[in-house]
Amino acid sequence: MYIDAHAHFDKYDSQLPQAIKEIEQHEIFTISVSMDPEGYAKSKAIDKQTKWILSTFGVHPWNAPTFHSQLEALQPLIDASPMIGEIGLDYHFIPEPENHALQRDVFLHFVKQGICQKKILNIHSKGAEADVDRILGELGGVGQLSIGTRERSSNCTLWPKRACISRLAWRSSSALRSKRSPNQSHRLCY
Ligand SMILES: [Zn+2]
Repeated sequence: MYIDAHAHFDKYDSQLPQAIKEIEQHEIFTISVSMDPEGYAKSKAIDKQTKWILSTFGVHPWNAPTFHSQLEALQPLIDASPMIGEIGLDYHFIPEPENHALQRDVFLHFVKQGICQKKILNIHSKGAEADVDRILGELGGVGQLSIGTRERSSNCTLWPKRACISRLAWRSSSALRSKRSPNQSHRLCY
């Protein structure tokens, strides 16, 4: 069995049946991230068709301006999602500095939620790797795993290879406890 840590099954449209057929045929357990509530709902409807897809909720950095003022309303979706993603920062495709502050607010919110709910984070960090590393580091003990390179993403046949490059950030609760002071934990999660 393979694991595809980052796919967008809500985007396939007419190619969806073929994509599902491929992951079932090759036994590729696929994490289908979403970029907004609409994408999450669509992905969840799709994952009922197969045991090989797991849908997760996040607000993509490109959508940060839209949802920046609605974060509290998204809480039920965050709570329901088994992991958090796609979230992150993108300073490459969105170079306007005034947009970056909104992105960071939304990203921070989701990272805190993910840490407090002990959920894996699926992160987009295009052109913003230093800030992503800094934020994860400041929140305490978040491990990072680079996963899926252009060369290794041979299971992504229908989606542009670039979209298959992703990072998973996860935390070990014991590692986090050892690195974060009780006060930090208290501030973050309560
Ligand atoms: Zn993506």
